[in-house]
Amino acid sequence: MIIAVPKEILANETRVAATPETIKKFVALGFEVHIQSEAGSESGFNDDDYRQAGAKIISSAKEVYKSADIILKINAPQPNEISLMKNGCAIIALFPSESRTASKSDLAKKQATCFALNLIPRISRAQNMDVLSSQSNLAGYKAALIAINSFNRAVPFMITAAGTIPPAKVFVVGVGVAGLQAIATAKRLGAQVVASDVRPEVKEQVESLGAKYLKNENPQDFVNQLKQSDIVITTAQIPDKKAPRLISKNMIKQMKKNSVLVDMAVDSGGNIEGSDAGKIVRLFDVSIIGLSNGAALLPYSASELFARNVYNFVQTFFKPTAQNPTDFNDDILKAVCFMKNGELL
Ligand code: NAD
Repeated sequence: MIIAVPKEILANETRVAATPETIKKFVALGFEVHIQSEAGSESGFNDDDYRQAGAKIISSAKEVYKSADIILKINAPQPNEISLMKNGCAIIALFPSESRTASKSDLAKKQATCFALNLIPRISRAQNMDVLSSQSNLAGYKAALIAINSFNRAVPFMITAAGTIPPAKVFVVGVGVAGLQAIATAKRLGAQVVASDVRPEVKEQVESLGAKYLKNENPQDFVNQLKQSDIVITTAQIPDKKAPRLISKNMIKQMKKNSVLVDMAVDSGGNIEGSDAGKIVRLFDVSIIGLSNGAALLPYSASELFARNVYNFVQTFFKPTAQNPTDFNDDILKAVCFMKNGELL
């Protein structure tokens, strides 16, 4: 079976779905691996690294797709990519709900079998395949660094001969994987951190990182916390749905001058009114950063982790002798496989 890795084509996508490390392992399992030339160039892996790992370097996307049995991608394929695929191929990638709907007839025409990695269930057996966690963790780290880097004051409490600097106050809204890493990173850099989530059970996790938990009960407490904060990082998402709008322009107006807000949910609708993907918006003397595809800002690490997740998925369910899993009854496969031989499940 030929595993193929095309170069990602979406703007601002710097990651690649396989690294030399995982390619070596696929080859050891008995797969043949084809990778498009320059597929890893933006992540820090060059063609020679892949060649040495045992991959065949293919010059064009057309040639890569033509012979691919199992396609490994970061983003869901676009119509012009699907048109290059051979009939009956398997595709393993992120397939957000809109891509599953928009591409269904193109994929069906190719009798494709599609596995949406974003639908990997959050169970312990699937943890090593969980791309949402591996990527959110890195994005949360990067969000804290970007926020702090954009802030015009020092973050830790400093006592100097010229006087003291108070610690910056960071408010993290949404304590999933990204939020926890944003808290941990801001704490390491010396900030005073408060965090809030609709799930009260995160209180213990927040406190174990040395931050304070704000109960999500009273909207006025939320606004008061915003008013006191120097940096706000929002990560609130609802899987496969539009992100909740949590911070309005009116709330931003009440914030301290020169505060920095980072909206990590900007790609799914945004938690902050006025945030714009990939841009810094200035409003009432506050900066609002729309952090789009945060993991792609750490392309080497993000590709390393994504590729390992993909390898663990393939190694668990695929054999080098067949292009599809032999048994689709596993709970993980039932959750992720949304199209089988062109039929929507
Ligand atoms: P996510 O990115 O979907 O959402 C981020 C956070 O936003 C969540 O904690 C959510 O509760 C919160 N949120 C949603 N609406 C909100 C609102 N209106 N106000 C404030 N917060 C709001 O979440 P995620 O990072 O993918 O993780 C979600 C859950 O899955 C967490 O409980 C996490 O611990 C769990 N998880 C489990 C495993 C596992 O067991 N294998 C792996 C990863 C994550």
